[in-house]
Formats: sequence, structure tokens, C-alpha cells
Amino acid sequence: MPVPEGSDFPLQNLPYGVFRRAGEPARIGVAIGDHILDLDALQRDGLLEAGGRLPEAVFGRGSLNPFLTLGRSAWQSVRARVTELLEDRNHTVRDLPGLAGRALIEQSEVEMILPVEIGDYVDFYSSLEHASNMGAMLRPDGDPLPPNWRHLPVGYHGRAGSVVVSGTPVVRPWGQTVRDNGPPAFGPSGMLDFELEVGFIAGAPSALGAPVPIEEAPEHIFGCVLVNDWSARDIQRWEYAPLGPFLAKSFVTSISPWVVTLDALGPYFVPGPEQKPPVLEYLRSDRDWAIDLDLEVTLASQAMTEQGLEAEIISNTNLRTLYWSVAQQLAHSTSNGARVRTGDLFASGTVSGPRPGTYGSMIELTWSGERPLVLPDGSHRTWLEDGDTIAMHGVCGPAEGAPAVGFGEVRGAIVPSP
Ligand code: CA
Repeated sequence: MPVPEGSDFPLQNLPYGVFRRAGEPARIGVAIGDHILDLDALQRDGLLEAGGRLPEAVFGRGSLNPFLTLGRSAWQSVRARVTELLEDRNHTVRDLPGLAGRALIEQSEVEMILPVEIGDYVDFYSSLEHASNMGAMLRPDGDPLPPNWRHLPVGYHGRAGSVVVSGTPVVRPWGQTVRDNGPPAFGPSGMLDFELEVGFIAGAPSALGAPVPIEEAPEHIFGCVLVNDWSARDIQRWEYAPLGPFLAKSFVTSISPWVVTLDALGPYFVPGPEQKPPVLEYLRSDRDWAIDLDLEVTLASQAMTEQGLEAEIISNTNLRTLYWSVAQQLAHSTSNGARVRTGDLFASGTVSGPRPGTYGSMIELTWSGERPLVLPDGSHRTWLEDGDTIAMHGVCGPAEGAPAVGFGEVRGAIVPSP
């Protein structure tokens, strides 16, 4: 199977997504180059059973959940079988007339839909640089980090029902805000922001009352996606005390359509930052959980889009400096006996690096409006305006002996409030 040079989706990636071709039911495929390998078609032809029986039509579904529930051994055997078929060293595919035509579909022909029926959605706050920046802006006279921050991965429960796939328009939310200590007002947010994040999708569930030990995290984590946690800072500022984010975040959260598996990320796991002071025993892991994933955010105004100008890169950073790993997030989330369910989404929190230009939100990039961004069309931005498009990309590698493994993109354009 030829893969174009520089594609996000070489043979070593094989991310899963749910697609729909006009007039046909939604089903599951893996991305390979510019194509999608239709797993439902392969299963119908009896080509996926090499690693043991799969439930009937498990890929002929509108979500990945039934497949995710099967657990790591099923995920690995399907991955191995798909790799074997795409390599086709034994001419299995070439000797089956017409199969390639039925099972390979051009990505440009399909609509990608939300890959997972989202269970619970937890959003963390795991970037030391982001938490320090926010603390410095919100509490300029105090310690930027709250006292618990280095001891546990801080998070809150978000709204699963507002998670949407890349490309879904983002309607500017209405909300209650207070300006200059005046009375509360209700209207469209004037401080709309994005947050660059990476989210993990849970596969096999765990039992209520049984915490997941950190070393068992790989049994429960299927893969990851790019996340844009859209945020309304004016609504957030007024509502967040004392219980944290609520309507400032729950209006929409966008994810990329392709779920990159933990197995595909294998070559890109690296040691994370040293945790000081040392964390409690239940948060310690012997394996490397940080991911060397380059991340990029672009912004295009409506005028830039109309003039055909290239989107402006406004942030470049890397996930590897994230202080708390997904394994720690999972172990902590279940440490009280709460369970993991198939399709749960664990988002990292805004990923920011150490310097301006590596920050993962407008509030940090403009330092709360002190340093507005200047766009190629001459306009200035403190917050996002109607017609703006934010796109996020992520690529691991290439590393020695391993090609680059990309995430595709998560994209969203702001549309005016109704
Ligand atoms: Ca967030």
C-alpha cells in the first residue's frame, strides 16, 4: 500500500476512526496514507479472524466502543493482522480480486464522525508551565501553584455530551459575566479562547470499588486524540469560585477524528520530568509515560481564509514536558474506587511550554490581553473573533528506525451567537 511521503498515517500508525460515505451506514476503519481501510469489509470477508473470534460486525458500528470493550489482546491482534494485510507479503489481498477496491476508500470521499461514544470526560491541569502561568495571572501576589498541585493531578469533570468531532462549528456561548466590578450581565462571551490538549480514550472498563493500579493502565487506555477545550474566560472568571469550571467550558470540546493507539506510540514514550517532591506510592510507575509529541496551533481569521492566506502558526510545543502522565491521571481518578468506563476521555489540560510562543491558549499567548497577537491580515487578537478558525496538529517523530506518526488535526471555526 503506497503511502505519500510525509503522511501522518504510515503503516506504523494505523489510527482508528468512524467514517460515513454518502448514502452508506457509518463504520470503522483505519487510516493508511490518504485512504481508509474499511475494517467492516475485511471482517465480512473473514480476513480479520486470525487472532481469534471477534464479535459479529464489531466494525460495522457508528462508534468504536464495542471494539474498545474487548481489551488490549483484541486490539493488538487486530493491529497485527491489519499490518500483515497491508504489507501483503503473502499476496493474500492481491489474490482476492476486487477486495482492494471494496476495502480501500479515499479519505476525501467520506465524512468523519465522532469516533467514540464519550463516557465520562475528565479534564486535568497537568502542565506545570500552564498552571504556573495561570496562577501568575490570577494570583499575582501569591504562590502561582496551589499547595496540592505537585502531589496529585488536579482535574474536574467536564461535559461528555458536548464533545464533538473536528470540523463541527463552535457557536460563541452566552453566559453570565461581570465587568469592572459592575452588576452581572448576560450575553455572548467576549473572551473566547482555545486550549491545546491531548486526550486519552479508555478502552476496557474497570469495576466500581476496585482502583486501577498504575501498572495496569495499559490494559485500560486504548489511544489518544488531539483536544481543543474551548473556553470562555469572562464566564469562567465570574463562575469558577468555589467549585471550578462549569459553563465556561461545557459548551463545546472538539477532538480529532483519528484515535492513535498506545501501540503506535511505542517508539515515542520517553522519561517524563522529574517529580519533586516524590509522589505517593500509588502514583509511581516503572515505565516511561511521557510522549514525545510535537504540537502546533494555527489561527486563520475569516479575512485570511477569504483571501486564501496561509493560517498563522501561533504556538509550537511538545507534550513530553507534561508533569502528570496519563497513567497517573488514571490511577488517581480511580484511587477512590470510581470506575473507568469504555469511551471515557481523559484530557491533559492545556499543554504549554516554557516560553511565549509555546503557550497553549490565547490567555497565555497574549498574557491576558497585554500583548495582542498580530495576524497576517493586519488585525489584532486578544481573544477569538467570529469567523476565526483554530487548527491543532500533532506529530511524533520521526525517530531512529521509526517513521513519523501523526494525529491529523482538530479544527473548529467560531460562528456568531444566535
Ligand atoms: Ca482545559
